[in-house]
Amino acid sequence: MKRILNEHTGTLHRLRPGSTGGATACGALRHVPRRYVTTVGSDEVRLGEDVDRCGRCFDDAGGY
Ligand SMILES: [Zn+2]
Repeated sequence: MKRILNEHTGTLHRLRPGSTGGATACGALRHVPRRYVTTVGSDEVRLGEDVDRCGRCFDDAGGY
């Protein structure tokens, strides 16, 4: 499962279904420079240390 990480703010987003361009499910990051945005595997990030999940992408808190 791929995720989108905003390295500038440390926020993890869901990848928009069907998107190959790094678009987020919530529509954030459209104005964020691409150098701050990276695609990562969901098992490559450590939540709670430097990274928090986006509240809009992950409104089903407690899920995977
Ligand atoms: Zn989001």
